[in-house]
Amino acid sequence: MRETLEVRLFADDAKQFLPPDVGQEIGMSRRVVLEMDDPLIERIRQYEQEKRGQGSLAVTFWEIHRKYTPRELNEAELLWMKVRPLFEPTGEDCGTGYDETRACPRCGFGARQVGPLHLDVKRIPKRDIAQTLGGEIVVSARLAEAMQSIGLRGYELGPVVDRNGKPSPAWNQLLLPECRLELASQTRVGHGFFAPAPDDAHCPEGHVAGFDVLSEVHVQRASVNAADWHCTRQAVGQRMGPYRPRPLLLISQRLHQLLLSHKMKRFDVEVAHVL
Ligand SMILES: [Zn+2]
Repeated sequence: MRETLEVRLFADDAKQFLPPDVGQEIGMSRRVVLEMDDPLIERIRQYEQEKRGQGSLAVTFWEIHRKYTPRELNEAELLWMKVRPLFEPTGEDCGTGYDETRACPRCGFGARQVGPLHLDVKRIPKRDIAQTLGGEIVVSARLAEAMQSIGLRGYELGPVVDRNGKPSPAWNQLLLPECRLELASQTRVGHGFFAPAPDDAHCPEGHVAGFDVLSEVHVQRASVNAADWHCTRQAVGQRMGPYRPRPLLLISQRLHQLLLSHKMKRFDVEVAHVL
């Protein structure tokens, strides 16, 4: 696995401490891609902490890119699936009912969907698996059929009701009744790469682990069962408008192979470690 960090920071700040030949300037920012063991990462961290100490900031964007070999992906027991980009409008925006009575007052986690998922079907991205900003996941009829044909486990399918009030033949909602995977402590979670704490998203009741995942995902062996679709007990993210914190989605190797063999469109996976 090769791990790089993409950082964008204000060009004026970059000039203060980064060599001029590192990265490219785009408008007012400088974009830098560094190997994870590059000592410049620590320099950026120190500079960013100083700026934050003064009530300002230099880093405007960061993203970790992990590139695995096909062998690493094909030998993993579980994979972390990232469904991107998230689309709008959400089910809630389209009239899907939610029961908020059992939602945590601190983090909003635990609201239960009531009744079928309503969506503007035309706005679903043209791929086989897609997710709304609110966390609702839909799968194409093609993927639903392929999953049923080999008897995958750990999921249920629900209808997706379009704007005319009719179930869509092209889409199903993917429902994961059991979010039981426990994150292992090796999974680092925090507000951001350069300033993990304080993390307002973290729920002291244990529902939301934090704002973002900062490392590879590690889960506890004792929480893994024989399902093909898994999600973590703890969610990640912060409730903001239509955005809801959501659990991490993990898939079995069997499901990964199904997605590959059917050339399912645009899914992004990383190795998840079972400890
Ligand atoms: Zn909570």
